[in-house]
Amino acid sequence: MECERISTKVCIIGAGPAGMLLSNLLLRAKIECLVVDRLSREEIFSRARAGLIEHRNVELLKTYGLADRMLLEGHAHSCIEFRAGGKGFLFDYAKLCGGRSSWVYPQQELVSDLPDAVLRAGGDIRFGVPAEKIELGAHPIVTCNGGKLVIDCDFVVGCDGFHGVSRTAIPNGALREFARQYEFEWLAVLVQAPPSSAHAIYALHPRGFAGHMLRNATQSRFYLQVDQNSAVEDWPDQRIWTELGIRMAKDGWVLNKGPVIARSLLEMRSYVGEPMQYERLFLVGDAAHIITPAGGKGMNLAIQDAEELAQGLRALYASRDENRLGRYSATRLPRVWQAMEFSNWMIEVMHAASTDRSDAAYTLRLQEARLEHLARKGSLAADFAEAYVGLA
Ligand SMILES: Cc1cc2nc3c(=O)[nH]c(=O)nc-3n(C[C@H](O)[C@H](O)[C@H](O)COP(=O)(O)OP(=O)(O)OC[C@H]3O[C@@H](n4cnc5c(N)ncnc54)[C@H](O)[C@@H]3O)c2cc1C
Repeated sequence: MECERISTKVCIIGAGPAGMLLSNLLLRAKIECLVVDRLSREEIFSRARAGLIEHRNVELLKTYGLADRMLLEGHAHSCIEFRAGGKGFLFDYAKLCGGRSSWVYPQQELVSDLPDAVLRAGGDIRFGVPAEKIELGAHPIVTCNGGKLVIDCDFVVGCDGFHGVSRTAIPNGALREFARQYEFEWLAVLVQAPPSSAHAIYALHPRGFAGHMLRNATQSRFYLQVDQNSAVEDWPDQRIWTELGIRMAKDGWVLNKGPVIARSLLEMRSYVGEPMQYERLFLVGDAAHIITPAGGKGMNLAIQDAEELAQGLRALYASRDENRLGRYSATRLPRVWQAMEFSNWMIEVMHAASTDRSDAAYTLRLQEARLEHLARKGSLAADFAEAYVGLA
């Protein structure tokens, strides 16, 4: 068997948003790196996932000249509508944040823009190449693709998502792990239909949460809270439309229907491993922590992690200053926990308690009271707006 052996400074495992941004930033700092991803480029770019990008990340991508297509084809997003009991109120979060809005730009578009920038800068990305073994120590070695590729490096960066190989290279007991599994799932649906509103809608209903998220002029994303033991087959098109119609109902509002292009079930769970580093291995994005999609924070955290790690590596290679890199985990974890808290808040306020619970009706009233509090535009509204747009 032929074996290719490569030496580089940083081996990045995973070409999702975290890995692709990190490689762009390292190349700009003239730090040699190599990216491997187990999937082909086409497989990565066909995965419809995130869409909401925080204001600070839009600014970050602009700073590095990586936002050109997003600014042309994406949309600034400044309002959410909350609905409950057949009524709704518009929450203009950008107004509460001095006009700063978040952006809607599908994740697959972003992860298709970023490799082009890496390749233009002379970077190396190997698609269809799984990393299988990571040997840590003073000179880490990553073995990929059944031993056909072996990478010697100064540092390994795990950007390989929650089910990747990187975190498993850390010995048992070296990470403190914190996890929560919620007692329901989300059915995520992508439809070929124009948006049913100019803004996102979050609906609280005794049958469960329903969400309408913007994507582009011809496609829309919807979410439904469903039982944990659901199967995708339980959700034919007609049932989806009926349920969305009931949960999001409001006088005069029309739900735009169209063919369902994709439907999948999302486990609602959150996980944080502390610290986000072990020896010469750093974990970034979903490899280090996963968060429920409520609140749209997962990709945003991945972008922020990647930027912080790039700054640390830049300081090390440019001026032998190890301080920032050494503080990577300590810098990122408080921000990660802020996002976890925000996502948990969204779940507590917007998701129906199981009807088996004797206090389900009481919980609904509490949730309605919280939404009324939010609508009053006091300090709760200001805190929510800052967290949502990504200033906090
Ligand atoms: C339906 C849905 C909606 C979402 N909406 C939002 C939103 O609006 N806003 C938001 O911020 N977040 C959102 N998220 C979360 C967001 O998609 C993730 O947090 C984000 O993809 C994390 O990026 P990442 O680069 O860390 O990991 P990933 O995107 O998972 O990338 C990991 C990469 O590593 C590769 N890999 C795995 N194992 C190996 C291996 N052994 N060797 C080589 N490569 C490997 C994988 O193929 C993959 O390409 C959503 C998620 C879902 C599912």
